[in-house]
Amino acid sequence: MDDDLREIVRRFTLYNALQYGGKARAGSVLGKVLAERPELKHEIKSVLQLIHAVVNDVNKLPPDKQRQVIEEKWPSLLEEKKAEPEEKRLPPLPNADKYPFIHLRFCPNPDGALHLGGCRAAVLDDEYAKMYHGRLTLRFDDTDPRTKSPILEAYDWIREDLEWLGVTWHQEIYQSDRIEIYYAYARRLIESSFAYVCTCRPRSFRSLTLANSACPCRDLPPEEQIDRWNRMLDGRYREREAVVRIKTDLNNPNPAVRDWPALRIIDMKKYPHPRVGDTYRVWPLFAFCCGIDDHELEVSHILRGKEHLTNSVRVGFLYDYLGWSQQEAIHYGRLKIQGTELSKSKIRTGILEGSYSGWDDPRLGTLKALKRRGFLPQTIRQFINDLGPKPVDVKVSWSNLESINRKRLDPLVNRFFFISNPITLSIDNVDKDRIVKIRLHPDYPEKGHRIFKVTPQKTRGILHVSKKDVNLFKKDKIIRLMELFNIKVKTVQEEVEANYHSETYREAKALKVPLIHWIPFATGVKTSVVLSDGTVVEGLAEDQCKTLKQGDIIQFERFGFARIDEVDGHIVAYFAHR
Ligand SMILES: [Zn+2]
Repeated sequence: MDDDLREIVRRFTLYNALQYGGKARAGSVLGKVLAERPELKHEIKSVLQLIHAVVNDVNKLPPDKQRQVIEEKWPSLLEEKKAEPEEKRLPPLPNADKYPFIHLRFCPNPDGALHLGGCRAAVLDDEYAKMYHGRLTLRFDDTDPRTKSPILEAYDWIREDLEWLGVTWHQEIYQSDRIEIYYAYARRLIESSFAYVCTCRPRSFRSLTLANSACPCRDLPPEEQIDRWNRMLDGRYREREAVVRIKTDLNNPNPAVRDWPALRIIDMKKYPHPRVGDTYRVWPLFAFCCGIDDHELEVSHILRGKEHLTNSVRVGFLYDYLGWSQQEAIHYGRLKIQGTELSKSKIRTGILEGSYSGWDDPRLGTLKALKRRGFLPQTIRQFINDLGPKPVDVKVSWSNLESINRKRLDPLVNRFFFISNPITLSIDNVDKDRIVKIRLHPDYPEKGHRIFKVTPQKTRGILHVSKKDVNLFKKDKIIRLMELFNIKVKTVQEEVEANYHSETYREAKALKVPLIHWIPFATGVKTSVVLSDGTVVEGLAEDQCKTLKQGDIIQFERFGFARIDEVDGHIVAYFAHR
């Protein structure tokens, strides 16, 4: 029986005792041990012997002593228990039983990568589709080549990000493939006098509608309207010279609803579409093509931000003319994250101007940036589910997201030493070589160890320590070098000199001295950590980090969680959070 196994048994036994009034039960402990080390099934007899011995010892301890041992050795066991994430359930969808099946749609504009605000609908759609065994359609809302021009790569970025989030979709639609469908509806509505082609200057149209008055185009006969529509299509009107409007109540309290624009002309020489080039010069506006598609695709429920409330009212007129009934719509409030830009157009401009390095710049709230920094997709989903589809605006800080991620990462990831801005620490009176074994995770001995060798030259041991800790080094101060020994500081200049003081953690604890981390001199791998504000901290990561691979998420002790971004002799890591 190895030492690690004894530790595993002790951990489960103490935890079991804590749960059952101080008395652990061998049977429950055995189950846990076998779940973690299934290969021991063949040695049950000896494992049980060990468990009985440990249970016997542990049950002799008073419960507060049991808790104290856990607190000291496996504090995260207690945290996890406290922080048991309560499974928040989303409220049921309205009128779900009215529909033969639930069909949701997620409609990103591929004019950039998804960010925390933009993926909210995707996560909620996916949750509901799964909850009701329904369907989810991914519909690329790519009909604005002028002001929100699609980026060809962004279609893939969105798919990748959705896959990373674990979103399942059942069909994919491009609105730019459906332009002829929108044209057919436009013609039908114009022929039936539910829509008209307006050639007024935008300014004069606006002042007319503000006065609840019709523009001169509104009541022209249908033949004249169709002639105007044909001119829009064949290029006799230029950009901004004509627009198709849907007739509404001109007394609608919201001027933005009154005779809203449904299709307009875009100069395709100036703004070619990345998928369909200059094939079409008349493009539908958002409310028009979404309204048509939601009906044609038999969508049952729409989840979207409440900035779309006006569109729901607009679409109401369209549906009345076409004899359709509106889907159930849930409008959620805006999401703001303190100090983070969540506007795609501003991010895009920032990238073009060079103030952001790309869509995965660590300062951004894009999924690409969060992934690069070591946020887990489950963290994003939990964060969004916790917010739910509430109609109120929410302002959250990064600490909300970070604390979810920290709880998830903490038991999963290995820990290493990273010495930021290294300085040299020389210690006199070190009598012998030390081989120090430190667990990759203090609570999980089974994850293995890192091994450090400190070989004094004569009696002088030399280490790298972090400049960040230099304030702790005052003359005569005693400091514990984690898992090594305790030192007493002699001098602090460019380098720090100290004397060996004492050996054990117990002595350090009695003196209440600070603990710092270290690596042996002339070891370590050059490492740059990119922080969330884009600045970079240089330093040395311990030798074991040479085994890390790109994409690994780790914890640098006393520094924070990070994701390994590059490993090419020199490590580049992106900082997640403390
Ligand atoms: Zn007009």
